[in-house]
Amino acid sequence: MKKIIIANWKMNPSSPKEAGQLFSNTVKLISGVKKTEVVICAPYVYLSGLKKLSSKISLGGQNIFKVEEGAYTGEISADMLYNIGVQYVILGHSERRALGENNLNVNKKIKIALRAGLTPILCVGEDKRDENHGYFNFVKNQLEECLNGVQKDSLSKIIIAYEPVWAISSTLNRRDANANDSREMAIFIRKTISDKLNNQNKMPRIIYGGSVNERDAEDFIKNGGVDGLLVGRASLNAKKFSSIVKICEASER
Ligand code: PEP
Repeated sequence: MKKIIIANWKMNPSSPKEAGQLFSNTVKLISGVKKTEVVICAPYVYLSGLKKLSSKISLGGQNIFKVEEGAYTGEISADMLYNIGVQYVILGHSERRALGENNLNVNKKIKIALRAGLTPILCVGEDKRDENHGYFNFVKNQLEECLNGVQKDSLSKIIIAYEPVWAISSTLNRRDANANDSREMAIFIRKTISDKLNNQNKMPRIIYGGSVNERDAEDFIKNGGVDGLLVGRASLNAKKFSSIVKICEASER
């Protein structure tokens, strides 16, 4: 399966013109890339416009509502995203969890996203690490609650993003995670998921996110035990983001 690099633009940039430029510049800079799948998760209001610019990069949303349709002022549904050509959606991001998102809602959203034909990018990750390694159980609980009741053969359609909150660029007093942190959690996530699967079921892709940049991307890709990366801040710079994509491309055999 192809490796995947996913950009999370968060609530940036502030105009459609800038969004179009960032997108087009990124498309240009990755024109030779063939073996790596590239996705940009942009604010809702830009998605239709970006879709018209190029199909080289797939598009993702950053959230959906937990109900399929109805009187929910201000919300966006999974079908709405799918019907404008969006393929992916980030769910359970720590910045949304900080605003009140919980595992139960994320579970509903995953099921709705799958039903609509979107690929959920499920974010899990601990706020802090403790000496007793309780963070493994924290992530296990997130996985179990968020994936509760999801059909075994749908699990391979989900991408699991391990994002230790303490390493994300928006976290106050953040610190760097390294490829070893990523690899041990990727192994743990694979084991947790494989306990739920039959032999014939495929594994979901597992990716790492948390302040990845063009200097450490190679280490995460080669030694982090993951199938790709989720990139926030660095994705707002076309040069930096495309370097990360090319590093991934070069690492593919
Ligand atoms: C994220 O928040 O999903 C993320 C990866 O952000 P950053 O790379 O800025 O830490």
